[in-house]
Amino acid sequence: MPNCLLCKSNRVHLYTIKKIIYSYYLCYDCYTVFLYPSPSLNKINSLYKNNFDYSSGKTEEKRIRNRARSILKKLKRLNPEGQTLLDIGSGYGFFLDEAYRTGLKVTGVEPSSINRFKKNTVVRNNFQNYYLKYPSKKYDFIVLIHVIEHLFNPESDLKKAYSLLNDGGVLYLETPNLSGWLFKAEGKDYTFLTPPDHIWIFSLKSLMLLTSRLNGIKDILINTYSYPEHFIGIIRRFINRKKVNSLKINPRNNKIEQRNPLQKQIKLIIFDRFLATLFFRLIDIGHKGTFLGLYIRKKR
Ligand SMILES: [Zn+2]
Repeated sequence: MPNCLLCKSNRVHLYTIKKIIYSYYLCYDCYTVFLYPSPSLNKINSLYKNNFDYSSGKTEEKRIRNRARSILKKLKRLNPEGQTLLDIGSGYGFFLDEAYRTGLKVTGVEPSSINRFKKNTVVRNNFQNYYLKYPSKKYDFIVLIHVIEHLFNPESDLKKAYSLLNDGGVLYLETPNLSGWLFKAEGKDYTFLTPPDHIWIFSLKSLMLLTSRLNGIKDILINTYSYPEHFIGIIRRFINRKKVNSLKINPRNNKIEQRNPLQKQIKLIIFDRFLATLFFRLIDIGHKGTFLGLYIRKKR
């Protein structure tokens, strides 16, 4: 049994095994799930070198752009004089494009070939190599969106990224939230346990532990967000769990009693189309949303 790679605790248990060979461990002290043994750095780099399938990225362009605009608004409020932005793991470049449209001078780093943003510089490389090449090029804003869970050594890369931030600058970090309702509901079927690319799933506790190792932080703003389908998924999981415990058997034929399918269909439509879109933001109360976002501001 490995000790926790993040907090060194020995209160670590095998949580689940995926695709036969990948073991995810859960640390009960800092509440982090990690893949052990981790794929090697070479293996990770070769995974993203070509056409890594960020399938959700492609289909969800509109969502990513909306989300980008709201993140950018907040970033600018936290550092109104900021002019330059580095997007580490910029993917298709939707965030870069939105940042560019607000007047920022933008740079992306992306190891795969999927970038579609042409207007400015996107360096096609992994972040470790980028850092070796430009160790002192500084930025007012740095974003790592759905990146840290893929990294071989998140602490070292986060420290490097943070060192590229100008004084008074803001680093935005976003990743799946192990302390969220979705993990509680899905458990071992958790949507983000996807080896070999997801090596780490952080909770608010473990992400705060990680950021406490950075120097010169002014403050950290915590935010979570979710989508309607997460709300739907969570509610269904809890309802199904209850149902399994209270299945009705018809005594005449010993079969499980089914509800009228039409009635069921109508209930689903009312719930999915109407209630879920009205109430999905409730799961963000108390930082229990699906994705965790930290705005880390550096002292001036
Ligand atoms: Zn730990």
